[in-house]
Amino acid sequence: MALIVMKFGGSSVGDAERMKRVAGRIAARQEEGHSCVVVVSAMGDTTDDLIDLSKQLYDGQPPAREMDMLLSTGEQVSIALLSMAIQNLGKQAVSFTGWQAGMMTEAVHGKARITDIQPSRVLQAVEEGKIVIVAGFQGMTEDGQITTLGRGGSDTTAVALAAAINADLCEIYTDVDGVYSTDPRVVKVARKLKEISYDEMLELAHLGAAVLHPRAVEYAKHNQVPLVVRSSFTNHEGTYVKEEAVMEQGVVVRGIAFDKNVSRISILGVPEKVGQLAKVFNALAAEQIDVDIIVQSGVTSGLADFSFSVSSNDCDKAMTVIDRLKPEMGYREAIPEGNLVKVSVVGAGMVSNPGVAAKMFDSISSLGVSINMVSTSEIKVSCVIEGSRLNDVVQALHTAYGLDTQEQAFVGGPSERR
Ligand code: ADP
Ligand code: ASP
Ligand code: MG
Repeated sequence: MALIVMKFGGSSVGDAERMKRVAGRIAARQEEGHSCVVVVSAMGDTTDDLIDLSKQLYDGQPPAREMDMLLSTGEQVSIALLSMAIQNLGKQAVSFTGWQAGMMTEAVHGKARITDIQPSRVLQAVEEGKIVIVAGFQGMTEDGQITTLGRGGSDTTAVALAAAINADLCEIYTDVDGVYSTDPRVVKVARKLKEISYDEMLELAHLGAAVLHPRAVEYAKHNQVPLVVRSSFTNHEGTYVKEEAVMEQGVVVRGIAFDKNVSRISILGVPEKVGQLAKVFNALAAEQIDVDIIVQSGVTSGLADFSFSVSSNDCDKAMTVIDRLKPEMGYREAIPEGNLVKVSVVGAGMVSNPGVAAKMFDSISSLGVSINMVSTSEIKVSCVIEGSRLNDVVQALHTAYGLDTQEQAFVGGPSERR
């Protein structure tokens, strides 16, 4: 008998019928002899709908504490209904909010990190033979404030809980069959991967592959939680996310991710003085704004230009910070630019294969698309480009790196050595 954490995303519990199907699936897992702890997201588009409602009632960025209070209700609806649906099948179930399940977080609203989990209540209910249903995406600070973990954060609740209760497996049920070489809704020939390493999955998730929340993968890697992503609609075998295995032959690029939510801010005519960059990025960090790619041009006549990318959600807030710094820094102007996307190719095999970046630049430029910003690491190359050609670019890269025809598991794939 195993202890299994099963997580169901919003689309899997989008309406009463789907909720019933999920309940049946959980009951069947228990009948196989397993103990089940379930993490569930808000139903369908509930979170988006709640955000829209808040925008109708508050001009600008609504108070972060109240946003968390609001958004956490979505998951609370799901846990109660799912518990009822399971009990309706004659099984014992109990629902817990994040804080009842002992999910403690730092005091940051909107994207809090989990600091500690006290799972005694969950474990006791499991001990009593109950199916435990925990609200994803939410936690509580030390002084009792409700927090949320950032969009897609229910994955993190599931993996963190799996680590805390020492589960044998964490299953992420979603609306696709597993992790694909790229978003299967964008590139029709995307291939399902049998396995992927924690490191590659972490990069893909950070770079925009919504199928797993990045922090969930961090948790899984750090605690060596066995993780599988699979469909809540089919019984197809999913994708195993695990520590790097032996099968690293020939695969250079494992997958392509993209982030449609990218803005660039350029600060032009910055007088060259020690500490100018530090000023900007300290001020942004103080406002919890994550800066991604930073590019500084050479200095002409004592003036430098630099630009950086941020999530489009943070662009207005970042511009407010930059405007505030103008008198102190003495720059000429700051220009925000939206409608950009970041496309990234990811693969552990890149480390020993030169030419991966060159191939990416060639593929993108041969479509007549210009590249605005670039960043690289040992296992990824990212390019920021104009948004309108995204699908063509992803398709071209998928073909260029041999992903259209590649074997689906780690083992396969033509050698891409150049
Ligand atoms: P859930 O509501 O179950 O959490 P999400 O919408 O957060 O589901 O994540 C699943 C979606 O992730 C898929 O519908 C798919 O469009 C998207 N996705 C992006 N990149 C990938 C990828 N590489 N493999 C699979 N799905 C991906
Ligand atoms: N309901 C939250 C969201 O839509 C959390 C989640 O689904 O993981 O982002
Ligand atoms: Mg998700």
